[in-house]
Amino acid sequence: MEYKNLGKTGLPISRLSFGSWITFGNQIDNKISERLMDIAYDYGVNFFDNAETYAAGESERVMGDILHKKSWSRDSYIVSSKVFFGAGAKYPTQKGLNRKHVFEACHQALERLKVDYLDLYFCHRPDKSTPIEETVWSMHQLIMQGKILYWGTSEWSAQEIMEAHMVAKQYNLIGPVMEQPQYNLLQRHKFEVEYAQLYKTVGLGTTTWSPLASGLLTGKYNNGIPEDSRLKREELGWLSEILLQESSLKKVAKLGDLAKELGTTLPLLSIAWCLKNENVSTVILGATKEQQLIENLKALETESLLTAEVMARIEAIIENAPVHPQY
Ligand code: NDP
Repeated sequence: MEYKNLGKTGLPISRLSFGSWITFGNQIDNKISERLMDIAYDYGVNFFDNAETYAAGESERVMGDILHKKSWSRDSYIVSSKVFFGAGAKYPTQKGLNRKHVFEACHQALERLKVDYLDLYFCHRPDKSTPIEETVWSMHQLIMQGKILYWGTSEWSAQEIMEAHMVAKQYNLIGPVMEQPQYNLLQRHKFEVEYAQLYKTVGLGTTTWSPLASGLLTGKYNNGIPEDSRLKREELGWLSEILLQESSLKKVAKLGDLAKELGTTLPLLSIAWCLKNENVSTVILGATKEQQLIENLKALETESLLTAEVMARIEAIIENAPVHPQY
């Protein structure tokens, strides 16, 4: 495993990490979750990603039980949670980025994950109904109380991230240090263009999600939707609609041919492509089966196949290079 500092922080994070969205407490049973955590940890993965909303809190509970059972030294891994959507929120006070929910969600995450502090705490989306000052103060106070170590955002706009930094600067508070955006061969604009300045100005760290576009970039959906797959799940009909576009499937088929020609697999090519971007601090992997994770963890070895010539061939297939504004 290789490690890289998370943005401008001094925190070394494994370049590949492991998350539990859709899977833990939901799609897979707890024994498989434990096995996957074991495989990841043994491989040197040091970051496990979670959120209050995953399986309405159950994902954190399952991960917490595993962390408790394993007794891995607490200083050997990084664990996160995210606040905003609530854990199955029934009442208006159970979601958002207001001080009350941020405070309560953090305590609930600590309880479910069975840890004394969270290493990373993300604002899962921007909250238009809470003043940014209130959120920045709340996060700063959690750091001061020793409940979290670093805070960041997920899918915020560059402007919202900068506003948080300005508030932090104005009141001498600790600002956000990382963002969790989607980044893969089919989703590039926000990561490559919108945040471009933030890597330079505030040294933004990134923990990127869905490197395989929920499995689309493995080629498994090229000939229909396999029974035992994420996009077969009824509650994810909205995701299938977004992802299963004819134009994307054509690109995926061509990328699959290229991967074969290079002597690798499409999942590895896709993950290695994300790793090639120097602004990616860690790529968060997801998996439902041992073989998937074992395969995906080899992506660091695949990176060397992505020469300038191969990158150009990939670019010619995906045809989505974002346009950078001319200043
Ligand atoms: P991916 O895009 O890599 O999708 C993972 C899924 O693809 C697996 O669960 C599996 O699903 C399938 N898969 C993975 N590897 C293979 C393989 N080698 N061969 C065939 N199928 C494979 O990542 P995720 O979408 O899971 O995102 C990763 C993590 O990022 C999440 O767990 C979460 O922590 C984070 N995240 C954060 C978000 C945010 O808003 N901040 C949003 C989404 C994710 P199956 O077997 O069911 O087909």
